[in-house]
Amino acid sequence: MSHTPVPAKTAHSATASAAPASPATRPQHFIRQIIHEDLASGRSTSIATRFPPEPNGYLHIGHAKSICLNFGLAAEYKGRCHLRMDDTNPSKEDVEYVDSIQEDIRWLGFDWGEHYYQASDYFGVMHECAIDLIRQGVAYVCHLSAAEVAGHRGTPSIPASPSPWRDRSVEENLAEFAKMRAGEYEEGAATLRAKIDLASPNMHMRDPVLYRIRKATHHNTGDTWCIYPMYDFAHPIEDAIEGITHSICTLEFEVHRPFYDWLIDNLARRFAPSRPRQYEFARLNLTYTMMSKRRLLELVRENLVSGWDDPRMPTIRGFRRRGYTPAAIRHFCETVGVTKYNSLTDVALLEHAVRDDLNRTSRRFMAVLNPVRLVIENYPEGRTEQLVAVNNPEDPAAGTREIPFSRELLIERDDFQEVPQGKFHRLYPGNEVRLRWAYFVTATHVEKDADGNITTIHATYDPATRGGDAPDGRKVKGTIHWVSAPHAVPAKTRLYDRLFLKENPNDDSDGKDWREHLNPASLKEIQAYVEPALASVAPEERVQFERLGYFVADRCESAPGSPVFNRTVPLKDTWARQK
Ligand code: ATP
Ligand code: MG
Repeated sequence: MSHTPVPAKTAHSATASAAPASPATRPQHFIRQIIHEDLASGRSTSIATRFPPEPNGYLHIGHAKSICLNFGLAAEYKGRCHLRMDDTNPSKEDVEYVDSIQEDIRWLGFDWGEHYYQASDYFGVMHECAIDLIRQGVAYVCHLSAAEVAGHRGTPSIPASPSPWRDRSVEENLAEFAKMRAGEYEEGAATLRAKIDLASPNMHMRDPVLYRIRKATHHNTGDTWCIYPMYDFAHPIEDAIEGITHSICTLEFEVHRPFYDWLIDNLARRFAPSRPRQYEFARLNLTYTMMSKRRLLELVRENLVSGWDDPRMPTIRGFRRRGYTPAAIRHFCETVGVTKYNSLTDVALLEHAVRDDLNRTSRRFMAVLNPVRLVIENYPEGRTEQLVAVNNPEDPAAGTREIPFSRELLIERDDFQEVPQGKFHRLYPGNEVRLRWAYFVTATHVEKDADGNITTIHATYDPATRGGDAPDGRKVKGTIHWVSAPHAVPAKTRLYDRLFLKENPNDDSDGKDWREHLNPASLKEIQAYVEPALASVAPEERVQFERLGYFVADRCESAPGSPVFNRTVPLKDTWARQK
């Protein structure tokens, strides 16, 4: 499956710019099946989906799954996908989030064109819908407190007890609702509730709240309103207004669907002939990851991470700063599929997708993370020569570059052992190895400091092996990377590990606070030494440090001449090994 971004070509500007793979190569899933049948039977002539984030946080990888699904299906079936800010709760929302959501969706490769909407733009229509329901005798103003409503609720087998205000007249309800709207009641003193079925086994049908009082300033509508619609009331109306055909949400909304349909039925006159339908799929959960926006906000507010874009965060921003590519994230979302069963996806699958993409696209360089000096005794002092290295063996078009070689090099400390342990084929006294792109060298002896730590390794080289091959055909078992010490560029480099040590940090059955599962070693900051060509990489360029992993020049802190790198993923692929 490939995801080559191409511009949207259809008349609908809200199609995704990331072209899907041909239908034949795509995994089939039940939502695709439903759309296929709806188009074939003529129930829908074209499809409209939507991605409806609440702007109360930054988007995370779970949202990416929903974005890829909604925008992806719209593109595949030449329909449209709306971006709708579900901003019905004034107290938690913010324009900072609105802006970041738009930027992140575009970065993922999708475009809503002219189809940008805000739930708050419909507050007027929603208010009319509420009055409509009151007039039909299916909504009433209730003065029970939230605690009293909970006390009246009953159980699935015991019906709820009716509110004392359930049988008010239409006129009285209209007057009371007007008082709510006018600000004459304090928060909690009145709600508008639907009048449905107090004995329904579905608790969401037992006179759910439609409107509540919130005396808060809304980031879009300011102080125009002091009553705000509940999500369950607002969402079907938003879908109906926009002509959404397939309203795709996560599984926990399955029990809300009867109310969704009840509301659409009762307001059908206003919206006919368009009738949206809700379909539910299982949300994405990842091992070693917390995804709830509430938790992510706590991580940020408590300074447990450096911000929403901390490369350890499962946010789109975090992954971007970590070096993940939009193509890899889209590919991962396609691979995990769409099901009706909640499950926990191995985060190694995401890392596998990232590695797979970076392997094809990133240039290789040499860098040393934990250096020790290597002196080539028979190499002339003061001499520098330029050796040629291949930039990307997966991509001939990436060409070659020159790397300076000299008498004093830096190599990785753990590529040397004074006394080789087990099957150690790298450098040890008397052993010959290849210096990548350079020469064969043989270690001779070491120098140590007063504490016995190795400070310098001495070696000799074979001038006949220039480029890394022996003309006499002799082989070596180890190849190690290096940088020339006088030419090396120091670079602040961050190495990451999982943010949580527990496989499922969302599971609190152990009675522990989730913070106890944080990995104290999730971030390690070091000074690496990189080859000179890496000094000038552009911020956000993704590269491979040979043998060490994929790294990205930090998009905020890196600058040509003083590069800063984040490790995206190490090279070892635990997912590929499991298979
Ligand atoms: P969270 O639970 O993380 O706070 P949310 O559902 O409250 O998320 P919204 O902004 O309401 O966040 O989500 C926007 C859309 O993204 C919704 O349609 C929701 O179903 C979908 N979504 C959220 N989390 C996931 C997930 N983990 N997997 C798939 N889709 C998700
Ligand atoms: Mg939500």
